[in-house]
Amino acid sequence: MSVATATPPVRTQDQTKTPRTRRPQVRTFRIVQGNPPFEGRVRISVGAATTLYEFGQVPLDPAFGPGLSFVCRKLFPDGKPAGEGYHLTYRADDPEAPGVDCDCLGHRHYHHCRHADVLAALLKRSAS
Ligand SMILES: [Zn+2]
Repeated sequence: MSVATATPPVRTQDQTKTPRTRRPQVRTFRIVQGNPPFEGRVRISVGAATTLYEFGQVPLDPAFGPGLSFVCRKLFPDGKPAGEGYHLTYRADDPEAPGVDCDCLGHRHYHHCRHADVLAALLKRSAS
């Protein structure tokens, strides 16, 4: 059996372009209330912008296999929910790719998002 190999193009830094000046934004979170992600509120800050989120654990459909399922809902400053929120799943059954999935648009496109990152950090914190 032969395997076709293609050498990926080597990316070199273009010396004529100006260097990228945009620094990555710092993302932090703070637990505001309760015991998130199981039940509670978290304030997520990205740069200067802060957003309040409500986390809650929900039953996981057995079709997804072993794991945990959560809902993350953005809240207005007055505490009222801003939409339906996002469903997140934590799966530990695949040692090759344990991790968190989120059904938000950002996670679908980039395979990471603030919701998944914060959930992973909260679960790691609750396990220790
Ligand atoms: Zn997300």
